[in-house]
Order: sequence, then structure tokens, then C-alpha cells
Amino acid sequence: MEKKTINFNPGPAAVPLDVLKIVQAELLDYKGTGISILESSHRAPEYDEINEQAMDLIHELFELGDEYHVLFMTGGASTQFALIPMNFLTDGQVGAYVDTGTWSSKALKEGRLFGDTYMAFSSKDEDYRRVPQMGEINIPENAAYLHMTSNNTIKGTQFHELLDTGSVPLICDMSSDIASRRRDFNKFSFIYAGAQKNLGPSGVTLVIVRDDLLAKCQEGLPTMFSYKTYAESKSLHNTPPTFGVYFLKLVLEWIKGQGGLASIEKINAEKKDLLYNAIDEHPDFFRGTVDKDSRSWMNVTMRLASEESEKEFIAEAKDNGIIGIKGHRSVGGIRFSIYNAMTLDDVEKTVEFMERFRKKKEGAK
Ligand SMILES: *Cc1c(COP(=O)(O)O)cnc(C)c1O
Repeated sequence: MEKKTINFNPGPAAVPLDVLKIVQAELLDYKGTGISILESSHRAPEYDEINEQAMDLIHELFELGDEYHVLFMTGGASTQFALIPMNFLTDGQVGAYVDTGTWSSKALKEGRLFGDTYMAFSSKDEDYRRVPQMGEINIPENAAYLHMTSNNTIKGTQFHELLDTGSVPLICDMSSDIASRRRDFNKFSFIYAGAQKNLGPSGVTLVIVRDDLLAKCQEGLPTMFSYKTYAESKSLHNTPPTFGVYFLKLVLEWIKGQGGLASIEKINAEKKDLLYNAIDEHPDFFRGTVDKDSRSWMNVTMRLASEESEKEFIAEAKDNGIIGIKGHRSVGGIRFSIYNAMTLDDVEKTVEFMERFRKKKEGAK
């Protein structure tokens, strides 16, 4: 069995076919227990093993030191927007934010609910067409942290260079590019990501937090809102999203089987090159929407000459088995979300479709 539909959904997104096959094979009887993992207790040794293995794989693939804790939470990345300032933004300090698009603006908005915030950079006036260089970012001395979004899923931009914030903790929303390329993850104090783009199904949120920042969690928070609760209980204080963590563990094993982040990065680079080359070869027909230096490897965005042509493009793509390419409702246009599970082969087929569409339209003129 192969998947026939080429699925560019931005999230929840495609998951590796090999992983789906394992889930299918194990669904009714998990490793001889006679029950499904969906029906297992989170206190059972089977789940404990999954939980441990998932945490270990994150450490291994991301090359994280022992000072990092891996947490599995719920509520999506959007809940982290609030939990971060709730835990780390204390009186007399400011939460500094780099505003590079919708998601980072939403993070800042939540920050304002809990304390003083500071806009360290914004590309809003430039229609979020780019991400900043380090030199453009102002970090106040009393910053509790600097918050950034490594990949801007909606607009289609991405940081290719890491920010250096010195002694100020760097916090990053990696929802849409986590595990898609190598990074020096040890430069971050805190990383978070909803799983539904690059790591599996929706419902589980991955959080990675370093000891020194964890020690700064405010006291007196509701139990389930404190990161300490998760770190101290291996995310087992209450019922975790067990199926999501199980699935995420399989995705991590799949990444490892591909050769780890170095191999994944190589394939992802080829995928984005195919699409951007197709766009750049005919810039009058396919119009890129962001500055070239800031182009995302995960969400390739473009416009056609008119909304009418875009509609036609989307409809014809669907007839060719290509779905999920309508741009976010806030920006319009076309967006190809090419997370880890999207194959090179399917991107090649998509580029061929783009060419057929262009030739037909230009021939019709
Ligand atoms: C999708 C996305 C979010 C929202 O995630 P939820 O899990 O739906 O809350 C936040 N940040 C980024 C960068 C995203 O791509």
C-alpha cells in the first residue's frame, strides 16, 4: 500500500507512511499485551518504556546535554504562549519578543497578560517578509528571556542563523521546523513545539527546558501550569497524551532510521530547492512572497497573477492528487508545507504539475 494523495497540509500534517504502518500493525495488540496502547495505563511498564525512550531519543537526536529536561504536555504551542511568561516573567523584568509573524505576535499578546514585555524586533511594517539579523535585535538588560519563532509557518520565513542572546535565556517556538535540520540546540534555554507538524499527531506538545531556567519557575502556580511538575514527574503527574507520545516516539525512531537530523536536513534542502527553483525560473508567473535570505525550508509560499489563477491552480492540483496548498486564510496565495514526512518524490511530482499548469496557462494567452 502506498499513499496516493500528496498531502501538503500545514498541520496536522502528513506523517511518515512507515510510521502509520507500524501503528496499524500494533493497534489491536501492543507487543503481546492483548490490548491496544490506547487502552494501556500510563502507569504500566509498557508506557513507561515508551515515555523513557521518547525522552532519550530527543536527547540523542538533538545532541542535548544532561541539563535538559524533555517534557510532554498538552494544549498545543498556543498554551505555551501563556505558560512561558506565567513561569518565567517576574516583577522587575521584561519578556522580550522578536515579532516575525502571526504566531510570534500571539506569543507576545499572551506575555502582556503576565508582565512587562518588550518588542525586541518586528518586521510587521515590512509585511513580515523577512527575519532579522542579530544586530537588529535589542535585548533589554532586565530581560527574563528573548522569545523567537524559528519558522514562520504562515508567512513562509525561517531563521537560518541562530540568535546569540548571551546570558539572556533564549526561548524558541519550533512548532513548524523542529527536527527538520541540525541546530545547536544547546544554545536554547527552552524549546517548544506542537507535535502536529513534524513529530506526529496533534495533542502532544514537546517542551525542552534547561535546568537553570527551570530553577526560575515561579512558585505558587497551579500544579498543572508549572513546568516543575512535569520535570519532576517525567510528565507523569497526571494522564499524559499517551497515544501522542507513543506516536511521537515512532516518528523519532523513523528520523533516527533515516540517519538522524543530518540526513533529514539534506533531504529537506533538496525539497525546498526544487520548489524555490521552480518559482525562480518563472518569477513572472510564480511570485515568491518573502525575501530570499529568509525563505523557509518548511513552508514555501507563492502567489500567482490573480486570486482567480490561484483558485484554478488549487483546483487543478486537487485533480492531480495534490492537496493542502491553499495559503493561510490571513495571507492567501499558495503554500507548500514540506515537513519531514513529505517525500522528495512527491515534491518532484508537484513541480512537474506546476510546470504543466504554467505551460497550459501561458499557451492559452
Ligand atoms: C502551528 C503553530 C502554532 C500553533 O500551534 P497549536 O499547537 O495549534 O497551538 C504555534 N506556533 C507555530 C510556529 C506554529 O506553526
